[in-house]
Amino acid sequence: MSETISQTISGQTTCLCGSIKITATKIEPNFSACHCDTCRKWGGAPYFSLRCGVDVNIEGAENITRYESSAWAFRGFCSSCGTHLFYQIKETGEYNMPVGLFLKLEGLKMDVQYYADQRPDYYCFSNATREMTKAEVERYFS
Ligand SMILES: [Zn+2]
Ligand SMILES: [Zn+2]
Repeated sequence: MSETISQTISGQTTCLCGSIKITATKIEPNFSACHCDTCRKWGGAPYFSLRCGVDVNIEGAENITRYESSAWAFRGFCSSCGTHLFYQIKETGEYNMPVGLFLKLEGLKMDVQYYADQRPDYYCFSNATREMTKAEVERYFS
């Protein structure tokens, strides 16, 4: 089920208050949903995340607060308005950004659901996707 993404898209957005402007030029249109406890606590719901790589330009970066949510990643948000901006892998610097930040992207498709075993029983998506448990995710990304 894993298909190689050859085409990336580009997007531009701002946080709610406008003090941060983000341009990402290599966004993969297939996105993931993460049901882990940390993502749900951070955003109040599963985290719909776009892989944006490292080709990301941020204006107003001094307004970003970075929180080290694990040994391997930071979560960034606007210090003024609180808009969630990214999950960034420390080792590679790769950005994963919320799908909802970008209002006009086309061709998006939910591809995989992470931490499916931490998904609470009060919701489920009908999208046909690959699902990975906590153990599978940790094995895959280690
Ligand atoms: Zn803001
Ligand atoms: Zn998560």
